[in-house]
Amino acid sequence: MNSKTNKTENAKDIHDAKRDDVKCYSSAELLRSEAVFRIIFDNLAWCVTVFDEKGCLIDINEAGLKLFGTTKEKMLGIRLFDSPNLSEAHKAQLRKGELAEIDLLYDFGKVNQQSFYKTMYSNTVKYIRGKCIPLKDEQGQVFGFLYWVYDDTENHLKNDAIQANLAKIKAAIDTGSSYLWEFDLHSKKLVADFSLVTDSASETLMERFWHDVSPSPMDIIQSIHPDDVSTLYASDFQRLKIGETDHFTSVFRRILNGKTYWFTANIRTYKWDENGQPEKIVCYTSDITRQKEKEIELFKAKEADKLRSAFMANMSHEIRTPLNAIVGFSNILVEMNSTPETEFFREAINKNNSLLLKLVDDILDFSRIEMEALEFKMEYVPVKELCDEVINIYEPMVKEGVNICFTPENPVCVIRTDRKRLQQVISQLMGNAVKYTTNGYITLSYYTNDSVFTFKVADTGIGIPEKNRESVFDCFYQVDHFHQGTGLGLSIAKSLIERLGGTIGVDSIEGQGSTFWFTLPVSF
Ligand code: ADP
Repeated sequence: MNSKTNKTENAKDIHDAKRDDVKCYSSAELLRSEAVFRIIFDNLAWCVTVFDEKGCLIDINEAGLKLFGTTKEKMLGIRLFDSPNLSEAHKAQLRKGELAEIDLLYDFGKVNQQSFYKTMYSNTVKYIRGKCIPLKDEQGQVFGFLYWVYDDTENHLKNDAIQANLAKIKAAIDTGSSYLWEFDLHSKKLVADFSLVTDSASETLMERFWHDVSPSPMDIIQSIHPDDVSTLYASDFQRLKIGETDHFTSVFRRILNGKTYWFTANIRTYKWDENGQPEKIVCYTSDITRQKEKEIELFKAKEADKLRSAFMANMSHEIRTPLNAIVGFSNILVEMNSTPETEFFREAINKNNSLLLKLVDDILDFSRIEMEALEFKMEYVPVKELCDEVINIYEPMVKEGVNICFTPENPVCVIRTDRKRLQQVISQLMGNAVKYTTNGYITLSYYTNDSVFTFKVADTGIGIPEKNRESVFDCFYQVDHFHQGTGLGLSIAKSLIERLGGTIGVDSIEGQGSTFWFTLPVSF
């Protein structure tokens, strides 16, 4: 072997030796990197599964086994395209070699039903998210699939709970007049949140309170009614600001564009800084202007009612006093110079006085009924005694040829009612009978059963045509206008009887007479 040949062989040896070195080095390196990959693969918090090109599971890491509640032996070999939880659309994407997002409810019930693999979960449902990456060679041929997913169930449930709470808050807030404020005490940032109301309500709210869409704290303070600043801002808010309280509720006014709005606000600290000082505040505020305006109107109306009632009470007294004086002194004058003519005048004065007083009483009662200001004083009333009093008053007034009959079935009858009002109603019916009866009888009667007291005044007077019978209890109604009266008496009687818990009615035959009746509860 010449030296040249020797040299060449040496070089070859060196080269071979070097190549062997490289080979040794590469396989060691490969082993090492595979070991590293294995460690990472097995310890990844995410579930990683590897499928071959046919979709057969060839590897799964520990996190994956935990997620699916199974073991490697039970899982290896399952077919991706048989999975009952993957949609057909997802499988089609994989077949096309496309990257696919995973965002699904993984139902272990289906896994068990189809015996897809054996799992410790029975009917559990997990919310799974992640990605599926088709593995491709240099020619773009798919040689497998890599799934990279994680269990997002906890977040999903939390999100569901948040959504449910939000829906509840929305339902509570969504009155069309409420919105939220948030105030950061550190950055002094103030944000009005109109988003918790429906879109249409939020639009109208924002239109109405456009001032609040991006306000500065100063704008808000300046808009508060001067009379409310001291309580709302200077007192309550300052106490909240220094942590003396964590919430307060306030009703206050704001002047916006010259109009006064009423608000109610529930203000609460919801975040504190590291020193325990209030940092963030939320305020639930409602526009209550309409309610407030109504309240004020109602208050004014009530005040006016009180004044009116007082006026009514006064009126009765004020009218009666001079009238009684006129009548009294007229009677004295007549007595001082009594002649048949002056007697006639005295009768006329007394008669007209009674009419005038009755008219005043009717008008006042009518007003009280309209104002719902009637008051009743309940007591035990001996009915016979009361009827005797009424008969005594009306007996002198009956026309010649008319007799009053009163033969009570139960003379000791006592009912619980308002004495004055009962007398008023009986007098009204009696007065009418006297007015509309020119001969025959006026008969008073009453009877009771266990619970109802029935009273009747029957007359043999002019009667009431059938077509008018229903209307005689209406205000101002008169069958004819030849008789003196206002048409108020029976409508007042009806209101009184109904307020006392009874009913009133009339039976009549035109030209033969009428029977007015009413009932009352025996004990009311
Ligand atoms: P008025 O003051 O006009 O009598 P009322 O309310 O007492 O008013 O009566 C209403 C109408 O009912 C009377 O105008 C009259 O036409 C009719 N009426 C009431 N009572 C009788 C009666 N006993 N007989 C006939 N008509 C009557």
